[in-house]
Amino acid sequence: TAEERDGTLPHATAKSMADHLEKYTNLFTLSPQRMRMIVDAFEETLDKGLQEWEQVIPMFPTWVFGTPKGTESGDYLALDLGGTNLRVCLVSLLGGCKFEITQTKYRLTEEQKQEDGCKLFDFCAECIKEFIDTHLPNVTHDNPIVIGFTFSYPCLQERIDHGILIRWTKGFGAPNVEGHDVGEMFKESLKKFNVPAVMTALLNDTTGALIASQYVRPKTKIAVILGTGCNAAYSEDIKSIGKLKDKNLDPDDVVAINCEWGAFDSDFHQHLPRTKYDIHIDEHSNKPGEQAFEKMISGRYLGEIFRLVIMELVDEGAMFLGQNTYKLEAPYSLDTAFLSLMESDPTDELLTIIGIFNHFYGLETTLAERQFFRALARLIGRRAARLAACGIAAIVRKKGYLEEGCEVGADGSLYNKYPGFAQRIHQGLVDVLGAKGKNITTYHAEDGSGAGAAIIAAMTKARKDAGKY
Ligand code: BGC
Ligand code: MG
Repeated sequence: TAEERDGTLPHATAKSMADHLEKYTNLFTLSPQRMRMIVDAFEETLDKGLQEWEQVIPMFPTWVFGTPKGTESGDYLALDLGGTNLRVCLVSLLGGCKFEITQTKYRLTEEQKQEDGCKLFDFCAECIKEFIDTHLPNVTHDNPIVIGFTFSYPCLQERIDHGILIRWTKGFGAPNVEGHDVGEMFKESLKKFNVPAVMTALLNDTTGALIASQYVRPKTKIAVILGTGCNAAYSEDIKSIGKLKDKNLDPDDVVAINCEWGAFDSDFHQHLPRTKYDIHIDEHSNKPGEQAFEKMISGRYLGEIFRLVIMELVDEGAMFLGQNTYKLEAPYSLDTAFLSLMESDPTDELLTIIGIFNHFYGLETTLAERQFFRALARLIGRRAARLAACGIAAIVRKKGYLEEGCEVGADGSLYNKYPGFAQRIHQGLVDVLGAKGKNITTYHAEDGSGAGAAIIAAMTKARKDAGKY
């Protein structure tokens, strides 16, 4: 046609899209054999973290001992500072493995994530104060309420209500928090705003998910969060934790370990098959060289990986020729939620994908391009799920759960909302562990950052009352 002759072919042809897809399929596909190599290294790294301090996967003891009884009861506040929102929850533990939650959510702005740490904790305290004023007339300074604080970043804890922030993750960068005790900072803010509340437990969201899940399903051994960030916690025997041997703890007890596995392979980059898009994301992030595993898996990054591939094709002249792509050129302009939507588009014409590109980026697409986009989303989503499966498999093998099987509580936007994510994890577990991988099942965890925080606060109180802290 005339268009082809003068080189202004507006849309890529079906054939060239298929060629491109083959290339990306090779880049993003993880074979079972490759996965097994990753799991071997992962398992070894987990063990190093248990034996020595300051390892690449830090394996933080959380000071949450034992497992919940299901009889814990009372009213508690949970403060949940996650990757995207701030939540204040009133949790009523009813005993009998039951609880009720009333909550208020606040969206965190990008500015709040970067402004001085004191301001961030002051904001937390103000939100709690407002919550108490509206919902809890009986809470006063003579009758304060207990808070469990879910702070979902890597913290080195020396006690249950203490935690030194090792590094921000998930794009946070608030100055003057890294290296500080966030428990203490939060307590200062509570004091400053005269809030009638005491924080008794500081926890990670994975620890909360583990305990909340064990509260209702005692067979749960592992919890994973697959959301804006990604991480896991599990119950470990104290006698297996070499680095705690001088701490005078009961060797027959168990303690929850917050693995912080998102840091896997960040030291020498020997094990993960990073593509140039993964490396680009790392190098352009506010924390280059950190969270190598998380950056290939979690919701904060998957949309960006997709966008980088598309921009490469745009630069090669393979698509959107003659159209203005400036909106798509903005880093992080393509949310992981779009990948979910693309994968689940039920129409032959892929109308959802037409809508996304048209409405958000002002771009026209051909059917061949849309089919390519959906296939690319699948590749990126599947790789993430299979890498997550590698982490789970490493814990399972380390703990020897393969024969008896175990339940894994899972939470986070990817796990809950990304179509097929759970099935892909399960397939990954079978690919790595063989048929017995079917004994490892995941399910939607209880609200760890809300209910889990309350249960941990209640367990902490029981332990204190028994003279054990
Ligand atoms: C943090 C973890 C957290 C995970 C899931 C990661 O970025 O380092 O502490 O558990 O995100 O929220
Ligand atoms: Mg959360």
